[in-house]
Order: sequence, then C-alpha cells, then structure tokens
Amino acid sequence: MTSKFALTLACMSLTCAVGTVVPAAADTTPGSAMLGFTVAGAERERDLEQRFDAQLSASEMRGWLQSLAAEPNQVGSPHDKANAESLLKQFKDWGWDAHMETFDVLYPTPRQELVEMVAPTTFKASLHEPPVAGDGTSSLGGALPPYNVYGADGDVTAPLVYVNYGMPDDYKELARYGVSVKGKIVIARYGAGWRGLKPELAYEHGAVGCLIYSDPRDDGYFQGDPYPKGGWRPPEGVQRGSVMNIAHYPGDPTTPGYGSVPGAKHLVIADAASIVKIPVLPLSYADATPLLEALGGPVAPQSWRGSLPLTYHIGAGPAEVHLLVKSDWGRKPVYDVIAMLKGATDAGQWVVRGNHHDGWVFGAWDPLSGTIALMGEAKALGALHRQGWVPKRTIVYASWDGEEPMLLGSTEWAETHARELQQKAVLYLNSDTNARGFLSVGGSHSLQHVVNQVAAGVTDPETKVSVEQRERAFVEVQGAEPGADPEAKELATLAAKGGDIPLDPLGSGSDFSSFLDHLGIATLNVEFGGEDDDAGIYHSRYDSFDHFVRFGDPTFEYEVALAKVAGHIVMRTADAQLLPLRFGDFSVTLDRYLAQLHKEVDSERKAAQQQHELFGADAYRLAADPTRPIAPPERLSDVPSIDLAPLDEAAKRLRQSAQAYEAAYDARVSRGLSIPTGQLRRINRLMGTMEQRLLDEAGLPGRPWYRNMMQAPGRLTGYGAKTIPAVREALEARDWSSADRYAAVTAKTLDSYRAQLDALTALLGH
Ligand SMILES: [Zn+2]
Repeated sequence: MTSKFALTLACMSLTCAVGTVVPAAADTTPGSAMLGFTVAGAERERDLEQRFDAQLSASEMRGWLQSLAAEPNQVGSPHDKANAESLLKQFKDWGWDAHMETFDVLYPTPRQELVEMVAPTTFKASLHEPPVAGDGTSSLGGALPPYNVYGADGDVTAPLVYVNYGMPDDYKELARYGVSVKGKIVIARYGAGWRGLKPELAYEHGAVGCLIYSDPRDDGYFQGDPYPKGGWRPPEGVQRGSVMNIAHYPGDPTTPGYGSVPGAKHLVIADAASIVKIPVLPLSYADATPLLEALGGPVAPQSWRGSLPLTYHIGAGPAEVHLLVKSDWGRKPVYDVIAMLKGATDAGQWVVRGNHHDGWVFGAWDPLSGTIALMGEAKALGALHRQGWVPKRTIVYASWDGEEPMLLGSTEWAETHARELQQKAVLYLNSDTNARGFLSVGGSHSLQHVVNQVAAGVTDPETKVSVEQRERAFVEVQGAEPGADPEAKELATLAAKGGDIPLDPLGSGSDFSSFLDHLGIATLNVEFGGEDDDAGIYHSRYDSFDHFVRFGDPTFEYEVALAKVAGHIVMRTADAQLLPLRFGDFSVTLDRYLAQLHKEVDSERKAAQQQHELFGADAYRLAADPTRPIAPPERLSDVPSIDLAPLDEAAKRLRQSAQAYEAAYDARVSRGLSIPTGQLRRINRLMGTMEQRLLDEAGLPGRPWYRNMMQAPGRLTGYGAKTIPAVREALEARDWSSADRYAAVTAKTLDSYRAQLDALTALLGH
C-alpha cells in the first residue's frame, strides 16, 4: 500500500532511523565471489540469470496492467476475484503448482456517509471523485465511495477543531493554545505520520469524530500540476485507506495472532482492539475548504498552515459539523494465490516472494505495478523450469488479497501457516508499488550484501549504469543537499567510500509485516521510485492505467528492472550452497543503531536542562505576546542515568562472533565450499532461522504481536520504522524504567542470536 518515495511526505517530520554502510570487501566485480556460491556455481547462476532476464517483456507487463486495472478491484469486488482467478490460471499455465487460499475476514464497507456543515453556514461535502478528461476508467462504476475502513459507525454533530497532522506534538501545541477537542470533531491533514493514528489520538483526547483531508501543500497543486495536466491530486481527489490501529496487530481484527480459518474463534467487534472507536471519513481539499474557512479561534501556528487560499484557524467552531457513517460489518472473502516450484535437494527450505493484487479502486500503481513484475518473474522461472532447471530450495510465489484494509491476506496466511513458515521459510521478499527512479531496499541487515551484489548486476534503464551505481549517486546527492539531516549525510559519506549501500529498516504498510515482525523470517522489501508523481493519486480513483503510463513508468522498463532484482535475489537464495547471509553486516548496523540510542539519551537530557533553565528565567512568559496568550510547554522530566550497558556488551560479543564466522566462511570458500551434504544441511537450517533469534516471545511493550526486537513499525509512527524499538520508544516516551528493562530484554535476544551464530561457525569451521 505504500511507497517509500510516496511516503516522503508522510515521513518528513519523523526521525526514521536508517541503516548503515559497511565498508565491504569489493567482491561485486564480474568473476569474483557470489555470496554463498562456489566459483563454478556462481558462473552457472549468472548464466541462469541471463536466461531469466531474456524472458522478461515490458510490453507483456503493460498488457497485464491494462487488464488487471480495467475495473475496480477492492476486496469483495467481482474484478478482484476475477484477477485472483486469472492469476491462478496463469501460474498453472506457467508450470507452477498453484492453489487459491481463501479467508473470510471482517471487512466493513460503507452503506451511508454524510459530512455537512450545519453552522455558521451550511455546506454538504460531495464525497465524490468526478471523471477526469483523458482518464478512461475514471467514469466507471463499481467502486466504493471514499472511506476509511475500520472507522466506527456513528452519527455525531459537534464543533470542528483543526489539529494539523493530528500527531502527538500537535495535541501538545493545542494544549498551549487552551483548545480542547473533547466532545468535538477534529479535522486533520494527511501526512507526517500514519493515518490510523489520527482518529486514535483524536479519540484518546476525547473527540467524537475525525475528518482527514489532503492538503494541496503536501499532496496537490503546491507539489506539482494536478491531474490530468500533471500527476498530482486534483481538488476532488480523496485518499482512502485503513485506519485500523496496527499498533495492536494487523490482519482480521477478530482473529489476533491466529488464522481466520473455518472454526476459528472470532472476537466480537467491540473487543477487537484494532478497530477505531469513533467515525472517520477522508475528504478532498475541495470538500475541506469550506469547513476550514468557517473556523474561528486562534490563527494556526505557521508550521500548521497548508496551501489553501485561506487563513488557517484552529477553532473550536464556530463551524459545526454533522458526520454520519454507517457500514455493513459483514465478513468478505479474500483470495490469496499461492504457487510453488518444488526444490530439488532442499525442498524443506522455502524462498517466499509476494505482492498484493487488491487495490483501493483500480490500483494501477498500488499494487498492480508490483504485481506485473512478480508475474514476469513467475513466467520466466516457469520457463526455466520447463527447460530443466530445478531450484535447490522450494520457491513460493504469493499474490495477496486484502492488503489495503490492513494486510489481511498475507497476515491470515502467515498466521495460519506460522509453524511451517518458521521451520521452512528462509526469506520473504516483498514488493508493492513500483515506478521510474531509484532502487530502494529495506529489510534484514544480514541480507545487505546479496542485495548489493544483485543490484550491481542489473542495468538502470534510464542511465545505463547499474542500479547499484545509480542508487549510490542518489544517496550521495541527497546527503549533500542543503538541509540534509545528519543520517542522510552519514549515509552519503559511507556511500562515497564505496562499500555496500545499507538496507533501510522496515516499519509497516505492506505485506512483509507478518513475516518480519511476527514470525522473524529474514525479509526484504524492494522497489524503484522517486521520479514519479504518484503521491498525488495515492489511494484515489485516479490511480489508473492512464495515470501510470503517463506519470509512473511509460516504458515499463522499471517493472522489468524490479523483476530482475527480485528474481535474481529469489534465484540466488534458492540455489546457493550456503544461504547468502552476512552477519557482520548486521553487527555493524547494530552498532550504529546503538550509537543513535546513546545520542537520544544525551539529547533528551540536554533538552530537559535547557527547558528548565528557560522556566527558571521566566523566559516563556517574557517571550510571549500578551495579546495572544499561549501557555508554556509541558515541563520535561529530568533524565536519570539509563543503563544501555547490557546492549553495548551484547553488541560487542556479537561483533566478535560475526568476525569469527566471516573467517570460517572465507576459509571454507577458499577450499571451494566442499562440505558434506548432511553438515551443509545443518548449517543452512541454522542460517535460515537466525532472524527468529531476534524475537522475544512476550513481544514489544504493550503489543505482543510484534516480536522482532530489532525493527518494528513505530507505535506512534505507524508505517515508519523504529530500530531497537522497545528501547528507542521507551526513551522517546521518557519512560526511563522501561528503557532500562528492555535494554536487558533486547540484549538477551542478541545473545541468543550470537549463540546460534557460534554454533554455525563451529559447524562451518569443522
Ligand atoms: Zn500497496
């Protein structure tokens, strides 16, 4: 559902932690070592990759996109089911052993929606996206009206309050203005954090309803020409989307942590923690303008103002709004297509690759641009298989349904098959929206090197250098931009040194979440983007084939490039003698994340000291305009000494173990990786479950579904990632005792990881 590049807006004020660059051995030149392969094995694999690439066709992908995006394909729609059935048939035609797995999930759809202003003037929101000239599907029926799925039913009338992005800091600011949202309806703009947090935080502060609109500053004419002249959101364009509270868990809200299979126990809706408690609706900026114009109260602070031609006021009132939402709370089927190519010698190890196929309306960008790459890969792998190639390990391709409501198809499948996946899956590789631009990969840091090796061997369609070289240039230029943040600068410096380009940590917002966060399977999310104008039609009726071929990727060469990158990673992982993981890369990145935590403690301490001095000097009162009273900020608590030593020590031990592993690996490679079959299998089995050692069974504080102690979606950032999340979020929440406690818990998972790595090294060196 998301694109890193499309989410630049949403992420702009977050401190999204990013990975690090390891000054790696330069072994990506042709003819040198391919991670996990012998020299002869690498040569065979490169030959196979060339034959794979030759099967990929941009024009075929274009045709697939046109037919998949021909009609609305949201969950429960006839075309969504038809797409799943046609995907199933194609997988079978291409030689895969494929089947459909269906789950009945709670999926509310709107029956009645109304937003009207009842005072001081009257206005009724259209809640409608009209056809656009030159967009062939924009006049078709069959779509649901714009809505936020998993908002509550409700019929409320109350004064309106503008809450900026509706994030925690915005409520702190509101308090300084003396404005309460208790008993009010809030209007928040999209961006700066996950949409699902906006109604959740509004509810926590006592609001009775929530409207979320797209401001043209973030997502409209301030960014570029609106559609159809340019690619950006037109005045009536609406961003649909899920507001499920994923801080608890994704998937069917009534089956937390287990599959929604026949006979499963379902929670009653009132007990489902992930469902929002107040009614919510999304608005276009055409519909939001009269409401914002009618607000009085204080003028909004400068950083709260968008680009509409009006003076932004906070309220509350005098605008009074009537908000009505009634939904059909029935269960609907989601159709996952699962296809397998059985491995020759290590069929008990699975390489899993997925992309969703459901969209909000036509979904040409999101998700079908990624789906057509996955289809290209599946067809090419099937062709190689027919020509006699059999992967060592089993390859599983999945086309998920129900991702948009909140990862329904992938989560229910992963929960249903949890045990088998934890025994067998050695990689989950995800993609979603894809378009022209730069390669971006996030995931498990032990996969950093194989990603860099693969990226060095794929040509960028626009510049004809490798996609790795182009990505490196992008990272370096980003770091040199005026106003670049310290992390971007650090990455640029490291990239300039020529080592591996780091993987980003992953938050949430696409189907990788169950695999990485819940099951601890080594995970990657791959996409191209950054040169497109897609943010403007994200989750609207205008995310169409006609829009994609003008603004996404007119030649479809980046869908071919995605298929190459993803396909090569899948094939290498499936064919490697030793799984292509490098644990030193994880260790180096961990050190960087720890350095960030230490910095966080220091800066929290300094911020508190500085603020206390300002209070001592009565500076807040003296610096305020007495005619526009604003209260001082909330007083920050003192920062005690935080004990991060258990983490530091565990990281140090891991560094030594990783070095020992690399030495054993190098020695084995120099001897041609000749390892007896039984021993090799034991080694690969240990390698395949390494990431699971990073799980803590009790999970992250207050959200037990999320068990990966190294990366997670932020509790308050939604899609945005947090690394060493239990400790980092405790520090950010100034919950000092929890930070201490979870430093020890996280250190324990690192020690468990290290112990398994030592066992691996012993087997390898034997
Ligand atoms: Zn998507």
